[in-house]
Amino acid sequence: MKTVLLQPSNQRFPVGKIICLGQNYAAHAKEMGATGATLPVLFLKPSSAIISNGVDILLPQLSSNVHHEVELTLLIGVGGENIPETSAYDHIAGYGVGLDMTMRDVQLEAKKNGNPWAVAKGFDTSAPLSDFIERVYIADPHALEISLSVNGVRRQHSSTGNMLLSVPRIIAYVSSAFTLEPGDVIYTGTPEGVAQVKAGDVIDAEIPGVGSLHHTVR
Ligand code: MG
Repeated sequence: MKTVLLQPSNQRFPVGKIICLGQNYAAHAKEMGATGATLPVLFLKPSSAIISNGVDILLPQLSSNVHHEVELTLLIGVGGENIPETSAYDHIAGYGVGLDMTMRDVQLEAKKNGNPWAVAKGFDTSAPLSDFIERVYIADPHALEISLSVNGVRRQHSSTGNMLLSVPRIIAYVSSAFTLEPGDVIYTGTPEGVAQVKAGDVIDAEIPGVGSLHHTVR
């Protein structure tokens, strides 16, 4: 089973499930051609998709158009279901940086045919995750700079303040569908600027104060 680390206590969490929000930033929803759904889409990645910082991202043979998506991620420390927004923070152990690697061509085909996104979003190495930093060290998770560059050229740059659903609303929404358990990870959605990566590309992603990722694509 894949695990993640919570710092600075160095506590290790086996990851149960990974729940992701699609289109939680308006500018990204627009670039994907969305018409303004009332709530962001939820989808799952298997924990087998996790790789830690520095491990190579492997391009799957099933796709010829894999995209990067940088996201703020939440590590659940205390489980619950139907969690109210008012107590949502009590369930968060820490914050991290994640990449939601996506087979865009496979996803678009699935969307067209009404099929699930499991393959497009859940393939091996599609979930690079940094270590998590304990919640108490982040005063406001909606005031964080978030960026990603490929081969030193910046492609994504935004603020978590641009998320459509706030962190407490995300916890409330997700836990209304899935019972949350310690070790679950939530991807909170990506800002605009998603684009293709190719073999040999180097991805650097950062949320200052939270963490960073450095990966080569193979
Ligand atoms: Mg995403």
